[in-house]
Amino acid sequence: MIDSHAHLDFPDFDGDRKELLQQMRSVGIQSAIIPAVDEAHWPKLIEVAERFNCFYSLGVHPWYAEDATDATWLSLQALLRQHKERSGLVAIGECGLDKLHKSNFITQMSVFEAQIELACEFDLPLIIHAVRAHEEILKSLKSLSPSRRGVIHGFYGSPQLAAQYVNLGYKIGVGGLLLNDNAPKLQLTVAELPIESFVLETDSPAMAPKNSQNIRNTPLILPDILQKIANLQKKSAVLISEQMFSNVTQLFDL
Ligand SMILES: [Zn+2]
Repeated sequence: MIDSHAHLDFPDFDGDRKELLQQMRSVGIQSAIIPAVDEAHWPKLIEVAERFNCFYSLGVHPWYAEDATDATWLSLQALLRQHKERSGLVAIGECGLDKLHKSNFITQMSVFEAQIELACEFDLPLIIHAVRAHEEILKSLKSLSPSRRGVIHGFYGSPQLAAQYVNLGYKIGVGGLLLNDNAPKLQLTVAELPIESFVLETDSPAMAPKNSQNIRNTPLILPDILQKIANLQKKSAVLISEQMFSNVTQLFDL
């Protein structure tokens, strides 16, 4: 298994990162993709990913869109050029749009589209954070049409919405929310869409299942998510596991 979205560089893991990675590998979670959130944390992200043999993306999360300056883009481009040939860099992001966040939406739009353009330029897939802005995101993806596509991470929408992304060639990132009994829409999506549509993720340390506020989430819940997908798809966990592995390695060219 590979966790396609885990913020293992966050301070939440400073105390036991090494032990966690060992535990992950002992239960068959070989690696994770660590997505970037803002410029200030790119150096630590790269350091953690390289030290623990994880993959990573580089980009600006919509919550930090207002912090992005001309200098941010110059340093992002320089880093992308520098890391392009390294096997660890696998995507641009996480980027996207979030209407529930206070950061200016026009700014979010321009920061998102700038990253779609970088995905085109550097031939990398996108890791997309999409909250209450699917119409705008679909429109940008259609008009700029990045060839490597990407993943809509932390998805919780309907089968109809998911199908719009899948029809454009995007994958749907399914995480711990699936384990919540109060996510019927997402359960329907996972039951109905073809299994080739999904990649596994946890969004650790956020998004702990069962809305538990103070409990840290980790990639160790991946087998539970996998089992839930197997139940909803009425297929064996082994088959789902193989397909999820092939989906994530294909999308990110791992
Ligand atoms: Zn994230």
